[in-house]
Amino acid sequence: MDISRRQFFRVSGAGLVGSSLVAMGFSPTQALAETRNFKLARTTETRSTCPYCSVSCGLVMYTLGDKAKNVQSSIIHVEGDPDHPVNRGTLCPKGAGVLDMIHSPNRVKYPQVREAGSAEWKRISWDEALTRVARHMKADRDANFIKANDKGVTVNRWNTTGFLMSSAASNESGYLSVKVARGLGMVALDTQARI
Ligand code: SF4
Repeated sequence: MDISRRQFFRVSGAGLVGSSLVAMGFSPTQALAETRNFKLARTTETRSTCPYCSVSCGLVMYTLGDKAKNVQSSIIHVEGDPDHPVNRGTLCPKGAGVLDMIHSPNRVKYPQVREAGSAEWKRISWDEALTRVARHMKADRDANFIKANDKGVTVNRWNTTGFLMSSAASNESGYLSVKVARGLGMVALDTQARI
């Protein structure tokens, strides 16, 4: 058989690796398959929505951790949801890199407030945040609610506060948000999601 110098090194190198692995008792093909399975084998799958843009692609997030009380679970892999009607398993480069955002040290994970006149942000609890938002909304609505227009026609409008939902809001949460916001008389209402 005619064989070039380059081909000789390639064939004998591959043969050497293969025969060493076989001598150790396992096949390289099987070993590779085992490694791939192992990465996600003990993870929990959670379906979510990409938070970046209005396309709102479906995600599957794989979390490691057995949900025991003293175990900090961690998302180790994210991929497109093949069952999602928007993206059918695909993700653009930005969505495919969402794991970096999830683990970013700069990601804000809890509510913060900057009091009037202060230059500092301070951390508050979710209970306090929701209470403050509710108080602000009530005060603004009480002060600015329009019951009737100039002609005396009932309009029940609240024009001074708006509501914006994220791209991760599903149709169901969008429906409920519209019900709540419109029920309060809010006119300025939008969602980033376009699905
Ligand atoms: S994966 Fe890309 S296209 Fe899809 S929602 Fe995220 S940013 Fe938008």
